[in-house]
Amino acid sequence: MTAIRGLRKPEHQLRRELVQFARLCYERGLLVGFDGNLSARIDDDLILCTRASCHKGLLTDEDLLIVTLGGKKVRGNGTPTSELSMHLACYKARPDVQAVIHAHPPMCIAFTVAGLSMAQCVLPEVVLTMGVIPTLPYETTGTTSLADLVGAAAENHDAVLLDHHGAVALGDSLLSAFCKLETMEHTALILKSARDLGGVIDLPPAESAHLRKLGLSRYGGPPAAQARVGEPFADLPAACQVCPTPPKAR
Ligand SMILES: [Zn+2]
Repeated sequence: MTAIRGLRKPEHQLRRELVQFARLCYERGLLVGFDGNLSARIDDDLILCTRASCHKGLLTDEDLLIVTLGGKKVRGNGTPTSELSMHLACYKARPDVQAVIHAHPPMCIAFTVAGLSMAQCVLPEVVLTMGVIPTLPYETTGTTSLADLVGAAAENHDAVLLDHHGAVALGDSLLSAFCKLETMEHTALILKSARDLGGVIDLPPAESAHLRKLGLSRYGGPPAAQARVGEPFADLPAACQVCPTPPKAR
């Protein structure tokens, strides 16, 4: 399915939702203070986004700006978020994506700081909705290099971690992007707990493959991933295909 997955919503509704989900990100501890940024697609060329230096827990409609896909401000006060180029790279790479949320979820960041990957097939709901969650190499925040890296990854993933920095989640709605972000942090907490308790055991590879194909059919995903649904392990990376069976802790 390569068509747009979500129905586009009127601007006034997107504005209300964007404020709601920004506050939720703050209340759920997925970012603090001025951290993070959210955006939603109004139409093929216009993007609604948060402005720079605004507290997400106290966000209001006044903190929202409208920019073109080329990055030109059309309406609103202040300057767009410093990470706007990262959002625009996602929209350019994925015409099906309607919302992008970037946050700094603490346990996810802790995994990257510790040099630990979350790209494992462990929890069924993660495999179903996101496949594996890669960690992208470190790049300075707000740079074109980071935007290029995230845009390229967005072609194959709806959720990525940024080394020593944070997380980016894409969706066909703000709700969908928020749920992925929340699930990423929840997963990081579970993986941390499992490590503390003795180790993480992967799902059996055949079950991971089954779940991923089911998820891509049922919930959609990046068009590039959906194009691989007929392959033995769909878009799961090669590492998952050589997971030991029966699974063992690592
Ligand atoms: Zn950031």
